Amino acid sequence: MGLDSVQVLGITVHCLVEDDVLRIVLDRIKHREPTQIVTVNAEFVMIAQHDDRFRRVLAAADVATPDGAGVVWAARRKGATIQRRVGGSDLIWSLSRQAAQYSQSVFLLGAAEGVAASAALRLQAAIPGLTVAGTHAGSPARSEEDAIVDLVRTSGADILFVAFGAPRQDLWIARNLPRSGAVVGMGVGGSFDYLAGTARRAPVWMQERGLDWLWRLIQQPWRWRRMLALPRFVWNVLRDGRANSEAGKGLI
Ligand code: UDP
Repeated sequence: MGLDSVQVLGITVHCLVEDDVLRIVLDRIKHREPTQIVTVNAEFVMIAQHDDRFRRVLAAADVATPDGAGVVWAARRKGATIQRRVGGSDLIWSLSRQAAQYSQSVFLLGAAEGVAASAALRLQAAIPGLTVAGTHAGSPARSEEDAIVDLVRTSGADILFVAFGAPRQDLWIARNLPRSGAVVGMGVGGSFDYLAGTARRAPVWMQERGLDWLWRLIQQPWRWRRMLALPRFVWNVLRDGRANSEAGKGLI
């Protein structure tokens, strides 16, 4: 596919914009080639530092978008040209719009009971002609896997959005996408909650300033411990940069 990429703390991030993802998805669906999209944010990178399975899934993903101000900042520090973040909550809209245009269907899997169904209604209300092949809350438990795969397969969905949170959603897709019959699989974190209105996205001015994390901390303060991944990420990137420049000096 020849996508430009950059390594952020050992994790591959593709230097692309939303339109590139749409183009790749169109092509992959046309050729029925299973394609996993991961939206790499700072938390993903930090989890992958000590979770080998997640690291392997991220490395094997066909498309790894830069999701979040932290990853965009770190990628640019390494000289990558990245215009802006390309995140799951935006991609779910643009992929659904494209799906409607090309008569492809989507399946929404995950989140709390009823949330995927309301998220689907919201998408369908906004996107005339969108085919939702199915929705299911389910869980990432291994015991449910075969039944969920059957559900997706029988639905005939082309695109599968999975909201089980990282890393479980991405591991789930890596294990099951080919046998689910869906062509494209993308982990979408809390996006169904935003669509269904059970959680609110940061105001645009905050998103534009890379302050989604602050909004999330205000809305969901109980996540503070998980969010410590962000300062740890910044610290690691700065330390990594210093180590590289010192190694560079040694060579001169
Ligand atoms: N979730 C789920 N099953 C689980 C764990 C999480 O359906 O076993 C859902 C949760 O309800 C939420 C989504 O996964 O809708 C994303 O969770 P989180 O906010 O932790 O993910 P993030 O957006 O931080 O990646």
